[in-house]
Amino acid sequence: MPGEKVVTSKIALTYKDEIRDFLASLPPNTPAPLLVGLLATSDPAAESYANWTKKAFEEDGLRYEVRKIEEQHVEEALAQCNDDPNVHGIIVYYPIFGLTPSYSGSSHDDYLRDSVSVQKDVEGLTFTYRTSLYKNIRYLNSNPNSKCVLPCTALSCVKILEHCGVYAKSPGVHNRLQGKTCTIINRSEIVGRPLAAMLANDGATVYSCDVDSIYKFEAGGLRRCDEGTTVKSVVEISDVVVTGVPVKSYKLPTEWIKENTVVINVASFKNVDADELLKIDGVKYVPMVGKVTVKMLERNLCRLYKQYHMDRKGDGKGDPRDALVKQARDFAAIAAVGALSLLALKLAGIWRHCRK
Ligand code: NAD
Repeated sequence: MPGEKVVTSKIALTYKDEIRDFLASLPPNTPAPLLVGLLATSDPAAESYANWTKKAFEEDGLRYEVRKIEEQHVEEALAQCNDDPNVHGIIVYYPIFGLTPSYSGSSHDDYLRDSVSVQKDVEGLTFTYRTSLYKNIRYLNSNPNSKCVLPCTALSCVKILEHCGVYAKSPGVHNRLQGKTCTIINRSEIVGRPLAAMLANDGATVYSCDVDSIYKFEAGGLRRCDEGTTVKSVVEISDVVVTGVPVKSYKLPTEWIKENTVVINVASFKNVDADELLKIDGVKYVPMVGKVTVKMLERNLCRLYKQYHMDRKGDGKGDPRDALVKQARDFAAIAAVGALSLLALKLAGIWRHCRK
């Protein structure tokens, strides 16, 4: 049986319905959740992603506003969005500063990523969500309404793989990718690395390829593969291959791909020759993931809105702001320890003074 192209618009429809039902459940005259996009990069891919997002949001009844700003004003614009109760989600389009170092230590883009409020981080890229993903923690606390936010592109790949039947269906199975081997050709912080962790968390063995190295991710850990491991050798044994190489000239040799493999191209360039690929028996080819990614963005926004921004009296589902309370409690505990330490130092000083 020759290969088939997977139509992602069908997968996207499932989530369109979910979002419509959520909006219908809001009290009458409630303004729809608002996502603000901060665009400070001249990268045409970011601008077209922003335009796409706007179109999809309008179609689905959500609100989206893009704010074009100079790069030196991003931090200020981000702080304003964090503080504005009428903004429910924030997306910052990267790269802005690339690898330019920041006063805070890491790159300035990393610093910005961590400056987005946890309650508005639709991309799941802040420290809190990132570390939860890498520790395979799925909720922020014991409240079932406190699900962690996952990065949209990586999540869209997971949903596509579920649709393609790669995940075991039985609800009782914990590691639903047990026995599957996946190769991801991209290890960026936004796409490849979180995707590798998500698939490994679900039980798969994942090979993560970058220009200079191949790493093997298995639940909770990773190790660098030896020199003998090549992209060819890992693709040849993979049930799933995800390509995300942002270069027009890159083409994955189709002769490396075995029968029945699911191949997903997340890059804006076609990293695989589709005609050749579809000659391989049982292959499922997903040429782009954008339609599902935008739905994941909408879904994340609705989730944040429900968890943090909805009137508690209105939903009657317990306390969705537990995460905030926890953050405040942690902060108060740190402040109390600091104050007690100062007091102890002061008392020690008075004691020494009295003994003289
Ligand atoms: P990036 O530039 O941040 O990262 C690219 C990654 O691929 C890096 O880890 C890089 O080292 C690696 N790479 C480059 N050449 C390689 C090679 N020959 N072999 C192995 N690894 C190689 O880009 P990104 O944000 O990860 O985006 C990647 C692509 O995916 C872009 O084309 C982008 O437009 C697209 N993208 C699509 C979506 C979507 O939902 N459709 C979302 C985000 C990004």
